[in-house]
Amino acid sequence: MYTGSRGRIVRSVEEWRESLTADQFRILRQNGTERPFVNQYWNNHDIGTYVCAGCGNELFLSENQFDSGTGWPSFSSPCGGGSVETSLEVRFGKRRIAVSCACCGGHLGHVCDDSSQMTGLRYCINSGAMLFFPSRKMKKQKRK
Ligand SMILES: [Zn+2]
Repeated sequence: MYTGSRGRIVRSVEEWRESLTADQFRILRQNGTERPFVNQYWNNHDIGTYVCAGCGNELFLSENQFDSGTGWPSFSSPCGGGSVETSLEVRFGKRRIAVSCACCGGHLGHVCDDSSQMTGLRYCINSGAMLFFPSRKMKKQKRK
């Protein structure tokens, strides 16, 4: 594994296959889509950060997650600072905007219009493309 000239993590297909689970590989590297409502994070209500399962890049915060009814974890916006990239995807004559990790190029999901959100957008992301890290609970300090 090495970092490309533009900060991208570049690995061969075989390196990715070895470093990811079968589901992660299918989603991130083969544009796969997991099933709705049976994936890991669609109904997650914990506070924390979602990072790319491929490279650890911070992607989404729980504060921007909302219940979209789609069965996939949905976000109104990604983390700042170019954490994700979007591109037009034409598949079976259907045009969609695909979302990928800006760091390793791994496929995450899709973004579409959603008027229920302030941003007007819904990032519909595969749970299997991400890992969730709950925020550490601050310990209360006793006053002396
Ligand atoms: Zn990544």
